[in-house]
Amino acid sequence: MEMPTWDGPEKIGTKVRIALWLVSVVGVGNVFTKAQLREAFPGVAQADRRMRDLRDNGWQIDTKREDPRLGPNEQRFVAAGEEVWVRGRATSNGSRSVNAALRRRIMADDAYMCAACGISAGEKYEHSIETAQLDIARRTVVKPDGVEEVQLVTECRRCRIGAREQKADLCGLLQAVSSLTDRERTELLSWITAGKRRPSATDMIWGKYRSLPPDSRTQVEKILHSRNLT
Ligand SMILES: [Zn+2]
Repeated sequence: MEMPTWDGPEKIGTKVRIALWLVSVVGVGNVFTKAQLREAFPGVAQADRRMRDLRDNGWQIDTKREDPRLGPNEQRFVAAGEEVWVRGRATSNGSRSVNAALRRRIMADDAYMCAACGISAGEKYEHSIETAQLDIARRTVVKPDGVEEVQLVTECRRCRIGAREQKADLCGLLQAVSSLTDRERTELLSWITAGKRRPSATDMIWGKYRSLPPDSRTQVEKILHSRNLT
């Protein structure tokens, strides 16, 4: 199939248009800014998020977090993933197996923690001797624009099994929501909007700390102790 043009008249979704823009305008390995993306897609709500969605299709787009050489408004188009302009590719990652690179990226994005309960790999569950094993799960998420999408998230085995067996208790959940502080509610709302839990800065450090070898962990602990004392 021939590649459609990014700004052509075809009826194609924003995510696909952005993919085409990255390939034909930005080019692999090059840096672009948020302003350039907005300029290319004027009036498109959340173009930035549609672009991030490409990562679910194996596209590598680095931010300052992955590449410290980048400025806060810069991103680098490192590598193209699946050809999302081919019919059905943009949304169907349901039947595709998750390759090792994609798996690593998803786990790193989730700070090596279960996206549902926050446990990290090898950590013991509360009141249990069982340790957590993380895996990649597929979750169907309804986006704000009503489009259903299968997202890949890091999930522990217990949550994955639990998610299949448990019945949703909406009433209890709403009660729990009403007891949240304003700050917690704002945070929860941002997760709902994003379709995934965003780990806090401390969470991110915890997840990465857990993946360190023992001597490096000791070093982190020592530094924390000394900082707390001074
Ligand atoms: Zn879990």
